[in-house]
Amino acid sequence: MSSSETRHGAITAAISWTDRHATNGNGSSLANGKKPVERVDEFFGADVFSIAEMRQRLPKSTLKSLMRTIEQGEPLSQEVADVVASAMKDWAIENGATHYTHWFQPLTGSTAEKHDSFIVPDGHGGMHFSLSGSELVQGEPDASSFPSGGIRATFEARGYTAWDATSPAFLMRGKNHVTLVIPTAFVSWTGAALDQKTPLLRSMDALSKHAIRLLKLFGTDSGVNRVTATLGCEQEYFLVDRNLYYARPDLVTCDRTLFGSKPPKGQQMEDHYFGSIPPRVLGFMAEVERELYRVGVPIKTRHNEVAPGQFELAPMFESANVACDHQMLTMETLRRVAPRYGMQAILHEKPFAGVNGSGKHNNWSMATNTGVNLLDPLDDTHMNLQFLTFLCAVIRAVDKHGDLLRSSVAGAGNDHRLGANEAPPAIMSIFLGDMLTHLVEQLERADLKETMRGGEINLGASVLPALPRHAGDRNRTSPFAFTGNKFEFRAVGSSQSPAWPCTILNTIVAESVDYIATELEKTVGQTPSKAALQQALLPLLQKIVKEHKRVVFDGDNYTTEWHEEAARRGLPNLKDCITAIPALGNEKNVKLFETYKVMTPTEVESRVHIFMEKYAKELLIESESMVLMARQVILSAALAHQERLAKAVSATEQAGVKCDSIKEQLRYFADLVERFNKTLDELDIADSHKDDDPFEYSQYMKEKVVPLMAKLRDMGDELEWRTSSELWPLPTYRELLFVK
Ligand code: ADP
Ligand code: MG
Repeated sequence: MSSSETRHGAITAAISWTDRHATNGNGSSLANGKKPVERVDEFFGADVFSIAEMRQRLPKSTLKSLMRTIEQGEPLSQEVADVVASAMKDWAIENGATHYTHWFQPLTGSTAEKHDSFIVPDGHGGMHFSLSGSELVQGEPDASSFPSGGIRATFEARGYTAWDATSPAFLMRGKNHVTLVIPTAFVSWTGAALDQKTPLLRSMDALSKHAIRLLKLFGTDSGVNRVTATLGCEQEYFLVDRNLYYARPDLVTCDRTLFGSKPPKGQQMEDHYFGSIPPRVLGFMAEVERELYRVGVPIKTRHNEVAPGQFELAPMFESANVACDHQMLTMETLRRVAPRYGMQAILHEKPFAGVNGSGKHNNWSMATNTGVNLLDPLDDTHMNLQFLTFLCAVIRAVDKHGDLLRSSVAGAGNDHRLGANEAPPAIMSIFLGDMLTHLVEQLERADLKETMRGGEINLGASVLPALPRHAGDRNRTSPFAFTGNKFEFRAVGSSQSPAWPCTILNTIVAESVDYIATELEKTVGQTPSKAALQQALLPLLQKIVKEHKRVVFDGDNYTTEWHEEAARRGLPNLKDCITAIPALGNEKNVKLFETYKVMTPTEVESRVHIFMEKYAKELLIESESMVLMARQVILSAALAHQERLAKAVSATEQAGVKCDSIKEQLRYFADLVERFNKTLDELDIADSHKDDDPFEYSQYMKEKVVPLMAKLRDMGDELEWRTSSELWPLPTYRELLFVK
């Protein structure tokens, strides 16, 4: 099988979650006569209401209509909903469930659920279990306590959840309870989106619509009626011993350390990355995976990450919507399972200063319902005009809307990471690699001749196989890199829902695909001959490359030279939340969302508002925690140390012994404590300032509070470094990072 065939197989399996549990074992047997275990659900058990499950429980006609909803986005009838609800309820109850919940993703950054029981009184003193079609399809949580950014006043508290049939329902299990979880979208009573899922689904529709138009021009076969954005997220996280975690008020409240001096041994020995996984961690990982397999999340990879105490897991990619739901589940599962192993999972972007932060690489592509990955270059890429067209669409999208992409990953946590010397910078550029760069250069000359090949690597030992070499190396420093058959958006923060960056990516690419399809249709109509299409396409792609190649950069993104070069190229550099979040509300962007029916101007405005508010609130929590910790923990430890020093000095001198250097140390230390205490008071006063306007407030926090926090931290860390370890009550970085 060629590698592209394997990939096609993988895509077909991944974009349709529907078939994941649907295949029956093919009956092959082992030499010993036993049947091999082929199905993951046989091995781990399954808590997913899969298509296979539905096939056994639903009448054929109901299943058919439901599949049209799942695969083609057709509306669902009440009748179908009733039948599905009843089957889903039966399945859930057989598996021990007594309750169900509409599960949604409000703009808090996490998920929300309200449980209802299946129990209904029968009117004769008894009770029975029931779930009606309308209960499955629609819920009505009180929306007033979720962020709305002013869309809905609290007196208009009504909100609705709507069943998303394209993401499979599953069971949540715990001690004494099993609950049926129904993935839903969450909107206000006016229909305005209050969640992550609604715009994501709309953006997927937009992308599909225009990609299909473009594919039609290429004469793609008629079986293609849907293009799906595919997504696979690599999740980085830290694990910290739970006892140590509880001794750190900053970790407990903020998921990151607000103080802490760097350990002498960090990641400089490069011995942790891909190192052997510590046994306790491996046990934890296996349990996380087991739980995730049961609910249908196809986790594939686990390994140590760069920083000590840092790890990663990644699933097999899926349809973006399902992948995003599964990502939320993955984060929750990491947090839930870690305590069973005496650990805490930390998902913050920068839990430890001076130590590598955590990201969530969003691997993204587009695939047809027939399993063709539109970003697969295949072998003779210079002949693969369809691929080159989609590639140009992405290049144009990232160049035109770099501000939006940047904005989509803005958050207080990511401000510590982006642009710092270990994560991609805040400047959005694309890494293409040698092979594609070579092709793009040919496109610029409108003269496609050849595809660069990597050849083979001969390892020089006869027992080792010859390895095919890729036509280009990787680049770890790029925020947006082509990695073989997909793009990898690396600026996404580890704690973030991938739904929002994915929504942006789908929308901006939909716009570019629309642009290309429209330009082509103008010159060659809707059913051009191959030759006519090619003739129209080459100058168009040439134009796109010329106009947008400034966004392509294959060098080291960490260098200052690149920052200068990017400025010369006119690429936006939105350094922090304060500049990146408002970009979302630019006229260009509001119009874009409106045109592609992803968000109304009001929805965009509300998001800008919510994100700014969230930023200010997060900073406030951090600075208040910092003040408390500084006063209640650090100051008292430092004073104890100071007293000890002072006593030592006076006792020594009383004994008639000189101790000038210790005395000098005391003087320096007392001065440091004094400055620390003053800064602490300044911070305490500064963060008591409030402002109702989220823009003003965020600006204030950034300009006045953040620098004071940095100043206080520096002094606190110096105190840690100078104070007797006996008197220092906080677990140190060394302990947090190296106790495994
Ligand atoms: P690498 O980063 O080394 O290329 P992998 O090939 O394992 O690593 O891919 C990392 C992630 O990218 C995985 O989640 C994988 O499923 C996902 N991925 C692979 N192909 C695609 C695709 N066509 N669309 C979206 N994600 C993909
Ligand atoms: Mg990767």
